[in-house]
Amino acid sequence: MATTELGALRKMQGQLNTQGRVEYHLPIGEQLLPMNALIGKNISLNFNGIINCQHCGKRTKKSYSQGFCFPCMQKLAQCDMCILKPETCHYEQGTCREPQWGEQHCFTDHYVYLANTSGLKVGITRHTQLPIRWIDQGATQALPIFKVSTRLQSGLVEIALAEFISDKTNWRAMLKGSNDDIDLVASAQQLIPQIATKLAELKLTYGEDAIQVLNHDIVTIKFPVTKYLTKISSLNFDKTATVSGLLLGIKGQYLIFDSGVINIRKFTSYNINVDYN
Ligand SMILES: [Zn+2]
Repeated sequence: MATTELGALRKMQGQLNTQGRVEYHLPIGEQLLPMNALIGKNISLNFNGIINCQHCGKRTKKSYSQGFCFPCMQKLAQCDMCILKPETCHYEQGTCREPQWGEQHCFTDHYVYLANTSGLKVGITRHTQLPIRWIDQGATQALPIFKVSTRLQSGLVEIALAEFISDKTNWRAMLKGSNDDIDLVASAQQLIPQIATKLAELKLTYGEDAIQVLNHDIVTIKFPVTKYLTKISSLNFDKTATVSGLLLGIKGQYLIFDSGVINIRKFTSYNINVDYN
């Protein structure tokens, strides 16, 4: 039995290999544990009860916004509601919590994409986050359809499309298996004309070049899962300090055990170690 050192958990790092399969690494403090090699083995993640804010490092009893203390959650722009709802960007009103952070992260190219997670969905992400965002969401297929120049614009295009398709993933359905493939190019060809009026409006406001239609190929993503569960129960460090079992696979930010699933990202900043064979 091998054991990692104790360290702060961070979200899993997923990379697409040349076969289009995701290779996962789990950051624990300074260590980076290769996870694909542990599939098919019994492993155990042990939480020691300590959570340190990922921004200021102070100990916090509870984790807010996936890994922050309460004061940081209230003051950081990355924890603001407008990050989850980009169409509510309030930079122009002069109320951005950290204007410099906003300029770097929100006033930069963003993509609007279609993905197949628990079904067809629309989403947005910063240009640096592809294909990470799709891997994190457990998308088996994805297609970037627009490139826009700010996060706000991506949010406005997304809500226009969300009148016709979902902007959410049903994580239980996503973890029960892979959907049938969707012809995302055909979906895009159907959807884009439906928001033509909205796009024209946005171009009038933000300039002709602000929103570009893309002609991208569909990206296919394979997740390392040997067996899917038919009934999903979620495992949680707040309820049980040790999460263990036979690791059946990894999809999105979830470890799939024979005993249930755990969303690793949800427990960012929890101090854990891992026992494995
Ligand atoms: Zn803090």
